Amino acid sequence: MNPAQPLDAFNRPIRDLRISVTDRCNFRCIYCMPREVFGSDFQFLPRAELLSFEEIERLARIFVGLGVEKIRLTGGEPLVRKDLETLISRLAAVPGLEDLALTTNGSLLPAKAEALRRAGLRRVTISLDALDDAVFRAMNDAEFPVARVLAGIQAAADAGLAPVKINMVVKRGVNEDQILPMAAHFRGSGHVLRFIEFMDVGTTNGWRMDDVVPAGEIVDRIGRQWPIEPMSPTVHGEVANRFRYRDGLGEIGVIASVTQAFCRTCVRARLSAKGELFTCLFAARGHDLRALLRDGSADEEIAAAVSRIWGVRRDRYSEIRMAETRPAERVEMSYIGG
Ligand code: SAM
Ligand code: SF4
Ligand code: SF4
Repeated sequence: MNPAQPLDAFNRPIRDLRISVTDRCNFRCIYCMPREVFGSDFQFLPRAELLSFEEIERLARIFVGLGVEKIRLTGGEPLVRKDLETLISRLAAVPGLEDLALTTNGSLLPAKAEALRRAGLRRVTISLDALDDAVFRAMNDAEFPVARVLAGIQAAADAGLAPVKINMVVKRGVNEDQILPMAAHFRGSGHVLRFIEFMDVGTTNGWRMDDVVPAGEIVDRIGRQWPIEPMSPTVHGEVANRFRYRDGLGEIGVIASVTQAFCRTCVRARLSAKGELFTCLFAARGHDLRALLRDGSADEEIAAAVSRIWGVRRDRYSEIRMAETRPAERVEMSYIGG
């Protein structure tokens, strides 16, 4: 192990950095930004609070020096940040970065996919929770039609951002009847559908264990319809359990963050849009790196600060979720990204 690359208290390196480029979004998904909380009077971060593209690039280089191989841009909705392609082209040029990806709700991809690809993006994950228009609108709570996300998926594929990963959050009684239609739709399409257990991120989405459809149940339902078999993980720290259709029509993934915690291999750091480092999706607070960026600290000093923070990391929230000692205060998902 390279001594310049910190290990946390459980010997986990930093390999993966998720950067939120905005806390704003044009959707109000019920499990993420419920309208009652994120209404018209909600105070999003003012422009001056956000990291600039220069600052994000600088941090990206520092994190790559500390072991990060993969960066994913997220949000809020990353494509509502103006000129995101400019940031993509800066990050695509960072030496040593092996993988640059984006998670988006897909709504703006018909207009942007081509420019993103030209800027150097190679892969995109698109969130889509239902094929049925009424179910999808009820989940995004922004009257957004499913046809436009499907057009965004097509635009991504046409631009060469393939294979596209499709993320579906499954909530009991809300969109569980969409599991089989979604699987049928994406089987044989070349895209990879991944089912995500509804998580208790933040404190505003009213999470209850009863609302979670366990990944095991999702796999059973699909396997009864189309025989599937498990695939071995390709990358260390991969969060999805993958299965292939026995008839060769592609694969699915399940992300069982609630029922089968994967903290042991969690190599992810997260950066909020205003430059706070979060060492866990369920952390209450971040560590302010923006102050260091703006007070004249040298890159080596910032790297040393990150190493210190990472060195004492003991996060394993998903393993202790059901324990009484779990933290009550947690950052919102739309603030630090998925
Ligand atoms: N706006 C973009 C999008 O929706 O893809 C990027 C940010 S969003 C916070 C990232 C991912 O987190 C999405 O795939 C979303 O479905 C997922 N997500 C949000 N809230 C969640 C929750 N409570 N449980 C599980 N996944 C969630
Ligand atoms: Fe927006 Fe993504 Fe959250 Fe939905 S999941 S509200 S699209 S940030
Ligand atoms: Fe990583 Fe925290 Fe999720 Fe565990 S709960 S997998 S430590 S982000």
